[in-house]
Amino acid sequence: MKIISINAGSSSLKFSLFNMDNEEVIASGVFERIGIDGSKFTIKYDGEKIEQEIELVNHTDAVKVLLEKLIDLRIIKSLDEIDGVGHRLVHGKDKYSQSVIITDEVVQDLENFKEFAPLHNPANVLGINAFREALPDVAMVGVFDTAFHQTMSKENFLYPVPYKWYEEYGVRKYGFHGTSHRYITKSVEKLLGRKDFKLISCHIGNGGSIAAVKDMQCVDTSMGFTPLAGIMMGTRSGDIDSSIIPYVMEKEGKNASEVVDDLNKVSGLLGLSEYSNDMRDILEKCEEQDEKALLARSKYVRRIVDYIAQYYVLLNGVDVICFTAGVGENSIPIRREVCEKLACLGVEIDLDANNQRGEFVKLSTDNSKIDVYVIPTDEELMIARDTLELIKR
Ligand code: ADP
Repeated sequence: MKIISINAGSSSLKFSLFNMDNEEVIASGVFERIGIDGSKFTIKYDGEKIEQEIELVNHTDAVKVLLEKLIDLRIIKSLDEIDGVGHRLVHGKDKYSQSVIITDEVVQDLENFKEFAPLHNPANVLGINAFREALPDVAMVGVFDTAFHQTMSKENFLYPVPYKWYEEYGVRKYGFHGTSHRYITKSVEKLLGRKDFKLISCHIGNGGSIAAVKDMQCVDTSMGFTPLAGIMMGTRSGDIDSSIIPYVMEKEGKNASEVVDDLNKVSGLLGLSEYSNDMRDILEKCEEQDEKALLARSKYVRRIVDYIAQYYVLLNGVDVICFTAGVGENSIPIRREVCEKLACLGVEIDLDANNQRGEFVKLSTDNSKIDVYVIPTDEELMIARDTLELIKR
């Protein structure tokens, strides 16, 4: 069985083609600058990498080229080999708590929910429509970023604001990165051989969120109504006092969405360091004892620790803490600093074990009261697995 996993953005389309017999990636790649000058694609397969500039007017074009190339490059012999297409979908509001077969209703809901994810939901629809045109008879599955977090209780997902905002406008915590947190949860289940565990899953990339999980279900998560909330990120502030917004609007003569844009795009590591949103750059600057980079780094660590501490109490203790995504999988010093600050909870890690990147590894020592792991996330595989499961039914 072969399944394609798709992540469609407003001007990009990423894909991974899986052989689900062994869950191996047969080919993967990205179509970029769709509808913009200089569009191109990259396809990786069988140790090769092909890059080509090509005019791509829209997503339908990109999908057409993708399918042609899969055949031209002999990655598949015919389109009949594709058994299913799984789409990463961003916002399913409180209607979708699981992955679903994509129907007209699902597409309509993505449209209806677009004010909750104005950049992502319309792009997801473009991706779905392009595949519907190209592969009309192939089943498609939607995997929502928000779905895993639907098990949060009202106490955890509501903000202490007028109740009417929730009832009438849908103001509540939705949470994101759900597919990644679910992948980590399932990996821990496999590792421990049981479902009754308490986990804090730390997805720390350029965007980042932390989830508290009990018995396989999400109890709380750090992102909120939008991905702006929670921990400090590459360019996002994470939680701040919202009164800052009108104050800065006045100071800089901006409107509310311009200031929120600043909180999304020029805050976080970039904002504090005035240098970069990339943790590698920040760590390099820290070597030079750059004051702002040092501050950005320690604030970043601090916000992660704040959330872990909060969720430790919420879950009434924790069995496993996992690090994943770009920083979580690769940044040795950030993991070390976070874990050092958790020593008061009984966390102890082996510095040699921590000295690796991008690998599954158990960081905690036998003395540690909490098991700590690095588990590389794989949202594409999770999407392909869900797709396979739903199309087999
Ligand atoms: P996104 O949220 O865009 O998916 P990623 O999960 O790819 O982001 O994470 C990107 C982040 O991972 C960047 O801040 C990058 O610096 C960081 N990262 C990647 N490799 C390393 C490394 N070797 N050391 C430190 N940080 C790293």
